[in-house]
Amino acid sequence: MTLPHLKNKLFINNEYVASRSGEVLTVRSPRDESILAEDIPRAGKLDVDDAVQAAQAAFKTSWGIISGNERAKIMLKFADILEENAALLAGLEMMAMGQPISVALELAKMAPAMFRHYAGYCDKIYGEVLPEDGNEQYSLVQYQPIGVCAGIAAWNATLVFFAVKVAPALAAGNTFIFKPSEKSPLAALALGDLIACAGFPPGAINIVTGSGETGSLLASHMLIRKISFTGSLAAGRKVQQAATASNLKSVTLELGGKSPSIIFEDADMENAVNHSSSSFLLNSGQICIAASRILVHQKIAEAFTSHLQARFEALAHAMGDPESPETFLGPLADRAQTESVLEFFSQGRKDGVQFLIGGTKHEKGGNYVQPTIMVGGRLDSVTWTKEIFGPALSIRTFETEEEAIQLANDTSFGLSACVYTSDIARALRVSGLIEAGNIAINSAYRPGHTVPFGGWKESGNGAREGGLAGLKSYMETKSILINMKVGRR
Ligand code: NAD
Repeated sequence: MTLPHLKNKLFINNEYVASRSGEVLTVRSPRDESILAEDIPRAGKLDVDDAVQAAQAAFKTSWGIISGNERAKIMLKFADILEENAALLAGLEMMAMGQPISVALELAKMAPAMFRHYAGYCDKIYGEVLPEDGNEQYSLVQYQPIGVCAGIAAWNATLVFFAVKVAPALAAGNTFIFKPSEKSPLAALALGDLIACAGFPPGAINIVTGSGETGSLLASHMLIRKISFTGSLAAGRKVQQAATASNLKSVTLELGGKSPSIIFEDADMENAVNHSSSSFLLNSGQICIAASRILVHQKIAEAFTSHLQARFEALAHAMGDPESPETFLGPLADRAQTESVLEFFSQGRKDGVQFLIGGTKHEKGGNYVQPTIMVGGRLDSVTWTKEIFGPALSIRTFETEEEAIQLANDTSFGLSACVYTSDIARALRVSGLIEAGNIAINSAYRPGHTVPFGGWKESGNGAREGGLAGLKSYMETKSILINMKVGRR
């Protein structure tokens, strides 16, 4: 693929502007470490202040005061423009993070769907009238936008994170500053032209690039009233701390996971194998909800494991150039990610973990890592307890439903879980007992834009993105009480 013209400026006030910090980032191809861009701005304090100022002006004078109908019209136009440009945006994601083009295209198509979904809410943000409760007081509840909001994203699905944060925020009448990951800023920067073309007023959506320091400037900014963060637990903690230490801004945290899949003896084996292989290895396992801890009933463990191994071996042949439509497995996002995954393997070996397949880099070099299945080893091994975020899962067996639930919940994370069984009563009973925000029965979990998404325990802070819950997270609630006794004769 020839490199399209890459945007190398911040997008503030509907214009591409040079960064005032003068500092830059280098983005490398995960295929072979070649340089894709070495002039992506690292936004500093002055740049973030500029973006906040633009967003605040738009909140007060344009986007924050126009009618819901007008907001919907612009968001729907933007959705069409995003759809028309899906191939370009997917190509930029593919280049920066090695995502196979087929996967990148699917993810790019989710963004317009989210803007359309939330455009529908713009003129339907109703308040409430509460029943009079004997004190002659008439009570109204209104839902209002918060003001300037910000979003910080991980690198594995930039366009989805952009849409799931920006669309509800804008539908509610807020304005926004979005920061993509330093590993995948190319598609996000390209959005600037599309935002201006859709007719958003200047300052409604601003894009700033940079690393953790830029994120931290957003998290601690006194004029940003809400921040939504998608990324690791370690950085999420820092965002929460910075928000608390600054202006107590509202925080949504979408963090990592170590999700279990419980496969009962009466499960449809072919379906469970499919989801534990093809669905799990999507994006080379670099998906927060990937079910990387398989708990399989001991009666079917041998058959399941050998089927799964065969499927992993077959899929390993579909590893290749992310640009090719036939490629199913691309490289990992960058050298740091690859080294981190390999370090997990080496620690696992020390803890007695056996590798049925994989456990090494692929002969292709670059950041290609073999799809990997691990068995055995200690329950406290990092390969069982920590998020690897790569093409590697672990398998353990269980005998009873209670044991399966206990093992599934024996984690500090609580993002998602899968339950495979043909007994619906058991599926619902077990789902009810799993400590996670998102459960799939007889499937891998696939987030949808109409459904609330978020994690329990250390996978989040209880806030939700998606659907009506996502919209509400970008609104303040105001109660207005009217004294009905005043002026009575
Ligand atoms: P990361 O935490 O390293 O980076 C995420 C973002 O945070 C980047 O934009 C980065 O620049 C920024 N950042 C880093 N330090 C910061 C700080 N101190 N203050 C503010 N911002 C800071 O995570 P990553 O490696 O990009 O992404 C992988 C992680 O994201 C995994 O743990 C994965 O499970 C998680 N994730 C979660 C979800 C979800 O919805 N729950 C979705 C995708 C990825």
